[in-house]
Amino acid sequence: MTDQIPLVCLGSGAALTDGRDWSSLLLDEHILLDLPPSAIPRLIRHGGDFSTIEHIFISHLHADHMFGLPFLLLEYCVRRSRENPLYIIGPPKIEELTFQLCDLAWPDLRKHGFEPHVPLHFIEVEEEGEYQAGALAFTAIPMEHFTLDAFGFRFEYKGRSIGYSGDTAECVELDRLLEGTDVAILELTYPRESNDPGHMDSPGFRRMASKLKVQGTTVIATHMSETPAPIEGVLFCEDGKTIYI
Ligand SMILES: [Zn+2]
Ligand SMILES: [Zn+2]
Repeated sequence: MTDQIPLVCLGSGAALTDGRDWSSLLLDEHILLDLPPSAIPRLIRHGGDFSTIEHIFISHLHADHMFGLPFLLLEYCVRRSRENPLYIIGPPKIEELTFQLCDLAWPDLRKHGFEPHVPLHFIEVEEEGEYQAGALAFTAIPMEHFTLDAFGFRFEYKGRSIGYSGDTAECVELDRLLEGTDVAILELTYPRESNDPGHMDSPGFRRMASKLKVQGTTVIATHMSETPAPIEGVLFCEDGKTIYI
């Protein structure tokens, strides 16, 4: 039997949260799925060694998914340093915007030379395709999230095929992203029916989850604006808790 892999929930909330920290998941201490500001203190409370994080997937350029980057880089300017590379994977302009955000966040620091002590490698994802970030190969597929460049990601990790939706409405691209995965991490913004064209609601999530269950996929819900009613066979992320996959 394959060893269990920990998926630590650093946050499980949507942008409009009910008090949850914004959604961020840490896979096996190595891969971070989105980085809101709240994930940084949560990582510290978790006792995580930042230097084990090798890959950060930023699904799109909304604040609840990327505004943790200035806090992370501040750590590496002031009180941490590392030699091993850190890959930041995200939509076009992720590199430029990361440093613009740092300029806004820490203008005085920038004036005195903003130099994060970490080898940073930005991987910009422009369209559907296969990409490589160091040793990790992954597939990116554009999702349906208003008119933004928003991506879902899929990769193999320790014998599991893992899919992560980021923010999206129901769409054929989401089906394609998650089809045949062992583990599907899927946003569930609305616990009831909603007309929001950029997010999943509970009826849509149930449809998706029942398709995935037939294939034997483990379905995990995150990015919630309220606690939804339980859905059979679905695991719900809870801030600070670990799910083993
Ligand atoms: Zn979001
Ligand atoms: Zn969003």
